[in-house]
Amino acid sequence: MGNSILGVGIATVDVVHTLADYPREDEEIRSLSQQRCRGGNVANTLAILSALGHSVYFAGTVADDHHGEFILHDLNHRNINTRFSQYIKNSISPVSQVLLNTKTGSRTIIHSRDLPEFTYDDFCNINLDLFKWVHFEGRAINELEKILLFLEQEHTHIKVSIEIEKPRKGIEKLWRFGNILFISKNYATQCGYDNAAAILNKIQTQSNADAIVCAWGDKGATMLDSEGGEYYAPANHPQKVVDTLGAGDVFNAGVIHGCLKGEPYQQLLDGACFLAGKKCSISGLDFL
Ligand code: ADP
Repeated sequence: MGNSILGVGIATVDVVHTLADYPREDEEIRSLSQQRCRGGNVANTLAILSALGHSVYFAGTVADDHHGEFILHDLNHRNINTRFSQYIKNSISPVSQVLLNTKTGSRTIIHSRDLPEFTYDDFCNINLDLFKWVHFEGRAINELEKILLFLEQEHTHIKVSIEIEKPRKGIEKLWRFGNILFISKNYATQCGYDNAAAILNKIQTQSNADAIVCAWGDKGATMLDSEGGEYYAPANHPQKVVDTLGAGDVFNAGVIHGCLKGEPYQQLLDGACFLAGKKCSISGLDFL
């Protein structure tokens, strides 16, 4: 078995406008600053895992435009190996416009995306002997289901984590896979839940995971293990919340890191909230 971590998902360009306050509709305002950063949930999680000392690889599709070059440059600069990525000719990189409200630290995101998804066939070209852990974004559900079945049947020693971030058609099919399931607050609230424990209890009835986790912004995070044990960690509140963009991705990296170190669930949940809170105190991901 290998020693590395593979992340399968998307890498984007985030154009972040830092604002004194959130605009009203039809208002014209000037931003305090504008910044172009590389985004994408899995790419962010890998960036943190790399900074924590892990050997990491990104697998996803990358466009052949100038944003694609920027994405690859950033990933490589962070020691994220991109050799298993797919380069799509004549394509356009996904871009997210992010409005960062310095008054509250909240981030409002508008995505645009027109890039083919990473497929089961792409995944089959990866040398899986390199990996001890694979982390997936819960997207392209039918392809991902085939990948997860393949891993379940052929690579039982590789640990798998899956992020369920948005309601997507058929995403419930993914609940039964993986060793760690990350359920986002966004997913929970869009499914009508108003707290982490409620959605975790629902999903646990259909999950085979060792643990399922739900982070809930400044309310911290909750985890259920397969024996019904429930764990809660409060958020680590920074003196000033500067930027919450990517806090969930950092949190996920913290959980994976703790699992790989063999930490008990309470300890790794505390550690993940500590990391995510630290991230909220600075702009961007370079806090380690
Ligand atoms: P995202 O919206 O990026 O998916 P979440 O809101 O679920 O992220 O938050 C993930 C984790 O980040 C939380 O469990 C918490 O530990 C930390 N976090 C998020 N927002 C704050 C905040 N305002 N203050 C302190 N910690 C926060």
